[in-house]
Amino acid sequence: MNVLEAAASFGHEQVVFCHDAAADYKAIIAIHSTVLGPAGGGTRLLRYASEEDALRDALRLSRGMTYKNAVAGLPLGGGKAVILANGGHQDRERLFRAHGRFVERFGGRFITGEDVGTSVADMDFIRQETKHVTGLAHISGDPSPWTARGVLRAIQASARQRWGSNSLAAKTVAIQGCGNVGFHLARLLAGEGARLVVADVDPQRVRHVVQETAAEAVEPEAIYDVTADVFAPCALGGAINDETLPRLKVGIVAGAANNQLLEERHGRALEDRGILYAPDFVANAGGVISSTVDLLGWDQTRATEKIDGIYDTILSVFAIASREGVPTSVAANRLAEERLRAGRPRT
Ligand code: NAD
Repeated sequence: MNVLEAAASFGHEQVVFCHDAAADYKAIIAIHSTVLGPAGGGTRLLRYASEEDALRDALRLSRGMTYKNAVAGLPLGGGKAVILANGGHQDRERLFRAHGRFVERFGGRFITGEDVGTSVADMDFIRQETKHVTGLAHISGDPSPWTARGVLRAIQASARQRWGSNSLAAKTVAIQGCGNVGFHLARLLAGEGARLVVADVDPQRVRHVVQETAAEAVEPEAIYDVTADVFAPCALGGAINDETLPRLKVGIVAGAANNQLLEERHGRALEDRGILYAPDFVANAGGVISSTVDLLGWDQTRATEKIDGIYDTILSVFAIASREGVPTSVAANRLAEERLRAGRPRT
């Protein structure tokens, strides 16, 4: 991969390769955009097949954060850090303190937090070197209930668009994944009077949701074949693909998982099948919005209003899609780009 070309084609401002031999630390910090504010994005610790894969992940994820923060209406840009796990033992204190020193060098242009492979304890190590970190054990709580609340709003907005009413009473929602978000979403939906069908590869997590909500459980693979009003992917990315699409018998796809469409073209394919898609990074922004409480000093009421605003944002995305004749996934990108253009300082 030609690094500068790749960064330029994604529109990145800066990509930094970080190294601290004593801490066994190698990382890439990608700043995609600071047009709307400091670049916010998590730090992920993962074993990559190659350094090229790590770079690709950092570039893709940081751009995703710019779009997510822009559409959520937050005064934040987008960035991401990936630390390369070496597959053996790495001393977490040394590793994350080394990372913290690099984050500090950005002087506040990059603010990081938890992501895949990292925990609040790791954030506390970073905090020993810089204040530009969120998700600390003594401040932030679990973002999942907030993410679930935003997904509920996205489902309600989609129901309004599709059936002319927000009401989910007696609607059937098939939830894939009974993890942190799936569990909270199931409870909220049950509170709205929805019927639930759920699946998870972990039977204990399924049991937990069934006990709480009286949901019907199906085998993980069977969730795609359930006749329902809404399919809510809350497990892994890529749930909407060539194999699963023809099996879906739902009117709406709206859930928490990142990158639900395996490929961009699956947005159009959903539309061709008459399925309304609430774009993932709009629907699942509740968690990142909740982080404004310790990141930007917002009070919880303001953050909660913003999370509930996902309802209107989803309706705006649908309006752009029908006005411009594009799939809703493309419309969501256009809304983000519009906000970035409006926020760009005059030159
Ligand atoms: P989680 O790990 O707590 O839950 C995911 C669940 O999916 C697990 O219970 C896992 O067993 C299950 N699962 C994995 N493969 C499956 C399969 N093939 N079929 C059925 N179930 C399967 O994660 P989470 O925090 O609940 O997040 C869920 C999704 O939402 C992820 O894609 C995450 O990136 C995204 N997301 C989460 C948040 C948040 O606040 N937690 C915010 C934005 C996006």
